[in-house]
Amino acid sequence: MNRITTVEELKALVSPMNVYEDYLRLSQRGRRRSALCPFHKEKTASFFVDTESGLFYCFGCHKGGDIIKFIEEIEKCSFEEAVSILARKAGVEFSRDKSPRATVEGKQRERIIQILSLSLKYYKDSLSNAGEKSLVKKYISERQISKEAVSELSLGYSGERGKLFSLLLKEGFRKDECASAGVLQEGRQGEYYEYFRERLVFPIFDLQGRTVGFGGRTLIGEEPKYLNTRETAVFRKRELLYGLNFTKEEIRKEDKVILVEGYMDFLSLFSRGVKNCAASLGTSLTPNQASLLKRYTNNVVLVYDFDTAGKSAMERALPILLAQGLDVKVALIPEGKDPDEAIKAIGAEEYRKRIENSLTFLEFIFYQYSKGNFFSLEEKLRFLEAVAGNIAEIKDPIKREAYLNELSDRTGVKKSLITEKIEKMGTIHSVEKELLNEEEFEIPEDEQLIIKALLSAKNDYLKKVLSMPKQILQSLKTSTLVMKLVEGVEISDERELKTLAFVNNSCHEINGIKNLEGAIYSLTKDFLDRRRQELTAKLKEAKKRGDNELADIIFRELSSMIANDVKNIQNMRLELKESKDD
Ligand SMILES: [Zn+2]
Repeated sequence: MNRITTVEELKALVSPMNVYEDYLRLSQRGRRRSALCPFHKEKTASFFVDTESGLFYCFGCHKGGDIIKFIEEIEKCSFEEAVSILARKAGVEFSRDKSPRATVEGKQRERIIQILSLSLKYYKDSLSNAGEKSLVKKYISERQISKEAVSELSLGYSGERGKLFSLLLKEGFRKDECASAGVLQEGRQGEYYEYFRERLVFPIFDLQGRTVGFGGRTLIGEEPKYLNTRETAVFRKRELLYGLNFTKEEIRKEDKVILVEGYMDFLSLFSRGVKNCAASLGTSLTPNQASLLKRYTNNVVLVYDFDTAGKSAMERALPILLAQGLDVKVALIPEGKDPDEAIKAIGAEEYRKRIENSLTFLEFIFYQYSKGNFFSLEEKLRFLEAVAGNIAEIKDPIKREAYLNELSDRTGVKKSLITEKIEKMGTIHSVEKELLNEEEFEIPEDEQLIIKALLSAKNDYLKKVLSMPKQILQSLKTSTLVMKLVEGVEISDERELKTLAFVNNSCHEINGIKNLEGAIYSLTKDFLDRRRQELTAKLKEAKKRGDNELADIIFRELSSMIANDVKNIQNMRLELKESKDD
C-alpha cells in the first residue's frame, strides 16, 4: 500500500465524485451534479456537487465544503476519522505523527475500534476451530446456514469462557476500555466478564466495513435469545442496519430493499442468495435507519414476522418509511411464521414470488383491519384511522391523490371527508416527526431510563429514582428537567417538552427494576468518579502553588469522600444483590 502523510496528498489521490456516489444518488445538472440533501429534509434537490472542484454545497441548509467535510458530516465523525475513511476508500495507508484536530474522544474511539476488530478475529477463529460436534456447528447446520454466508458475513462464536478476556489484556487493553467497547461487562461486584457467552456471534459493521458491535444468538437457550452490544461511542443501534454494508450495492442494483427484523431472517435470505436485504436489529425502525435506506433505493418491501408483534411493528414502521418518501410494500408470508421459517416452509422460489407480489401499504392495512374479507362499519372506521396517519406522511401530491382515490373506493367514504381527516392528522404528525428528527438530543441511555422512570406509572420505579442523592440528579445532562419532574413542577419550557417527547419516543425501555437499578448504579459511579477527579486535580494544583493549608483541606475532603464512596458503592451493590435475590 502507498503510504501518504499529508491530507493534501490524500485528497489529490481520490476522485471525490466516486466518494459522493457511495452516499448519494446524484443526477447531472450542467457541470454540477445534484441530489436530495442528506443533511436536511427536502422534496427537490438543493444539494450540489461541483464536478471540477469536488466541493459540495446545499442551498437549503447551507452546509458545504470539501469531501472530507462531507464525510465528517455524513458519518458524524471527527476530521481524523474522516481522513482515515477517505484513505481506506482510496486504498492507501495514511499516517502522521500529530494532528491539531485530533481529539481525545477520537483516540478513545480508535481504541474501541481496535478492541472490536481484535474481538472479531477471535470470534471468527473460535468458530472455525470449533469441532463438528460442537453446539455452534450443530446450530449452523440445523439452520442450514451456508459456508459462504458464514465466511462472507464473518460469523463467529463466543468461544471458551475467559479466552477473549485474557487475549485482550495480553494485547494491552484495559478492562474498562473493553467494557466501553461492549465486549466485556462490569459485574455488580465490580468484576469483569465476557459479554457474549455460548453464543453464535454476528459482527455488525458500519458502511465502511468497520466492526462497530456484535449481536449474539444463544446456543443454550439463555434469555435473551438475541443479545446486542450495548450502545457505545461507536455503536448506535438506531443509526445502523444489519447487513447493509454487504448488501448496499445489490440494493442499488435491484433498486429495492427487503427489510427484515432480525439477524436470522437476514441470514436466511442471504444464505439462499437473496442479497438485497437489510435487518433493523430488532428495534423498532427509526427515521435514521429509513434515511439510510433511502441512499440506495426508494423501494422497500417489509418482511416482518406475521404474528401480532410483527404486524404492529410493521404498522409502526410504515409512517416512518413513508415520511422519507419511500415506496413501501408488505410481503404476505404464511401467518405466524418469521421469514426464516417461511422460506424453509415454502421454498426460496415461492418466497421470491410473494415478495414480487407484495401488497401496497394500503392493501396491507386493509387486510389487517378487514381480516381479508369484509368490512363492518367499525372496522371501516379503524381502517380509516390507521391509514390517515400514513397518508398524511406522503409528500408527493400525485401519490397522495392515488392513495386517496383507492381509499375512498375501498371504503365508500367520500374523498373530501377523508382529506379533512388526514389534514388534521397531518398537523399532529408533523409536530411529532419534528421531535423525532431532532438530532441534538444526545441523552445518555442511562439518563433516558431515569426520565422514563419518572414518567412511569410504576411506583417502584419512581421510588428508586426519588431515593437517588440530589447532587447526582443535579449533575445529569438533563438536570433541570429531571429536577422539575422530581419536584412535580409543571413543564412548559419548549425545549424541555421536546426532550420529554424525544425520550418518550426513544427505543430504550426499562426492562424491569434491575435494569433501572443498573442505570442508577452507573450514573452514581460516573458522578463519584468525576468528583474525585476534580478534587484530585485541585489538590495537585494547591500543592504546586505551595498552598499547604488548602491542600490539607482538600486532602481531608478527598479521603472522606473516598471512604463514603466505598460505603455508597457497597450499599448499592448490596441493594442490587438483594433485589436480584427477590
Ligand atoms: Zn441541506
